[in-house]
Amino acid sequence: MTTGAADVIVVGAGPAGAATAILLAEHGVAVQLLDRARFPRPKICGEYLSPEAPRVLDRLGVLKTVDGLATPLAGMRITAPDGTVVIGTYRTVGDWRPYREHAMAIERARLDEALVERVRALPIDFREHVRVIDVLVERGEVRGVVAVDRDGRAARLRARLVIAADGRASVVAERLGLRHGHRLKRMALVTYVSGLDGCRDYGEVFVDPPDYAIINPVAADRGNLSIVVPLAHAAPWSGRLETFFTARAKHLQHLARRLAGARIVAPVGAMGPLAYEVDAPRVGGVLLVGDAAGFVDPFTGEGIYAALRGAELAVETAVGALRSGDCSRQALAAYRRARRLAFGGKARVTRALQFVISHRGLANLTAHVLAQRPGLLDVLLGVIGDFVPPKALVTGLVR
Ligand SMILES: Cc1cc2nc3c(=O)[nH]c(=O)nc-3n(C[C@H](O)[C@H](O)[C@H](O)COP(=O)(O)OP(=O)(O)OC[C@H]3O[C@@H](n4cnc5c(N)ncnc54)[C@H](O)[C@@H]3O)c2cc1C
Repeated sequence: MTTGAADVIVVGAGPAGAATAILLAEHGVAVQLLDRARFPRPKICGEYLSPEAPRVLDRLGVLKTVDGLATPLAGMRITAPDGTVVIGTYRTVGDWRPYREHAMAIERARLDEALVERVRALPIDFREHVRVIDVLVERGEVRGVVAVDRDGRAARLRARLVIAADGRASVVAERLGLRHGHRLKRMALVTYVSGLDGCRDYGEVFVDPPDYAIINPVAADRGNLSIVVPLAHAAPWSGRLETFFTARAKHLQHLARRLAGARIVAPVGAMGPLAYEVDAPRVGGVLLVGDAAGFVDPFTGEGIYAALRGAELAVETAVGALRSGDCSRQALAAYRRARRLAFGGKARVTRALQFVISHRGLANLTAHVLAQRPGLLDVLLGVIGDFVPPKALVTGLVR
């Protein structure tokens, strides 16, 4: 493996890493982007894109391509445990206007490939089939990584800054001792269905504690179906996930009714535990973006948007640090503060929603309140859709 000099090594070329590399390259920074996989690579995901994600995709130069591949979603149709249905739309709320008045459903293979295609069009040293196995830490700062290519050749790759975008199993976070478990222990089971009747314009959510399910129409006659269950319920079925999935889908009565006539058309993928936490690095020379920086639950569908927005924030800090020649922990602390500002409020809303969807009575009550006040549901969808600040929910409640 050749070890060309880079200013920044980005580990992982999913949405977080590809976006980071693109933005850095546009600032004239020499970037080496490493991924253990070859694209397109499989990724278990609900395949929903928040209405604010197109703003970043536009900045990255891929929105036109993505528009041609995605299904626009005008809003979400939510079914409560008692069958109450509420429908929210993505629309301008007060002064808060979404970048697009719709969310999107798009297969990850297509979205991620669109981003990687943009990477390939830029002067970025992009290497697939290169797995990072360790980080080089010298005098309290990360100075590079140890990586292995597909022939098993190891190399020490050096850079002024390492940006970890290596997803939920981040080797960088793990080697730096930053990753730990979360009290929420859930597992997601994901597949595709076809033969669904109607409703191509909305995402559909079925809340039925302790489970919930989401359908996203990613293409004509193809819906992404995810069911999220307690990890302990799924664990005994690890060898027979298809059986467990089918039984669970039948058990969720409103989902079962919706799926009448539909059929599963792909193997069931599983991922769990879904939630984990990642501390901020205690050393300099490193930033974490996307899932490498932590993940809670796909219910509020913010993972890809957070990956893209996190990349923007990381690049702002990285470019300043590289220019000043100081990539110390203190110099990079601006990124931690920017993340807190960007994601802190939404994280609190996510925690509150997790509580609501875990309690049948509360989930029903919330649905009844939202059914009476559709405007409030649109505000909530705006918050979930990343274009309305969470504080608007409080204002919305007292209005
Ligand atoms: C079940 C489920 C459903 C979800 N549904 C949604 C949804 O509907 N909408 C949404 O917005 N988000 C959703 N998410 C979250 C979303 O999938 C992630 O937040 C998003 O993929 C994060 O992007 P990323 O670039 O950080 O990580 P990834 O997309 O995981 O990319 C990480 C990349 O790093 C590479 N890599 C890993 N380790 C190494 C290594 N050691 N060396 C080199 N390369 C490495 C991998 O090959 C991969 O390409 C869901 C997540 C789950 C688990």
